[in-house]
Amino acid sequence: MNGKLFRKLRHGAGKAISDFGLIENDDRIAVAVSGGKDSYTLLLLLDELRKRAPVQFELVAVNIDSGYPGYRTDIIEGFFRKYGFSYRMIPSEHYAIIKEKRRPGSSYCSICSRLKRGALYEAAQTLGCNKLALGHHQDDFIETLLLNQFFVGSLKSMSASMLADNGIITVIRPLVYVAEEDIILFSRQAELPVVCCCCPVCGTADMQRKRMKLLLKDLQADIPHVKSSLLKALSNVHPRHLLDPLLHRIIEKAEVKNDLLAPALFPDPDSQITQKILE
Ligand code: SF4
Repeated sequence: MNGKLFRKLRHGAGKAISDFGLIENDDRIAVAVSGGKDSYTLLLLLDELRKRAPVQFELVAVNIDSGYPGYRTDIIEGFFRKYGFSYRMIPSEHYAIIKEKRRPGSSYCSICSRLKRGALYEAAQTLGCNKLALGHHQDDFIETLLLNQFFVGSLKSMSASMLADNGIITVIRPLVYVAEEDIILFSRQAELPVVCCCCPVCGTADMQRKRMKLLLKDLQADIPHVKSSLLKALSNVHPRHLLDPLLHRIIEKAEVKNDLLAPALFPDPDSQITQKILE
């Protein structure tokens, strides 16, 4: 696997790993693989980077079977075997739990993804992993940014690296710089054995996200760089020019006290104090 497209994807993942320090020596990383294009691609990229990296780290592919009838875990397992990955297939009763607990009219996805995330954290811990890699890509970050602004009234997306609520596992997203269209292309070229999740809302869930995708596609016709600009905006934050009263008070107080927090929130990259924080 060494075509031009794969090298482009590898470069994107490598840059994210370097920019956010996603992988360190002796990491043992659980890679969540659902059988979708993104997670297969993530696993192949991390494995390729592992062979080339100056640091030693291990990968374990993890699949959570939510129990939706028809979900082809055999195909996913066949993929792990074909490439010689260490892996763990984890069956669950999630579908039965969802059927019992879901309130009529409420979303399948919120309870399904919460259960799956919990199972992944647990699996990562059981497997002795300190990190969990997820396959969210550049478009997921951008769409989440828009969704939060349009529907939640919040200025946030996702983190490339964040300690999970359990305080033990660090969740990493090495595909943050990788465009979905490149993953789709790669998935076709490499004939990845993509399987359907087979849940009751498969293909019809998350209509708002689909709206964001359409909106971005529309905008791209006039503003070709709109996606890269939105992604760049996430790494170019000016807290002083936002309207969060709490943040405003913190910056003000920190500045008055000449606290280390002020440059941390609003850093001048060349100042001595910023350099000291980054040491
Ligand atoms: S689309 Fe289906 S599998 Fe995916 S989170 Fe929603 S309910 Fe779960």
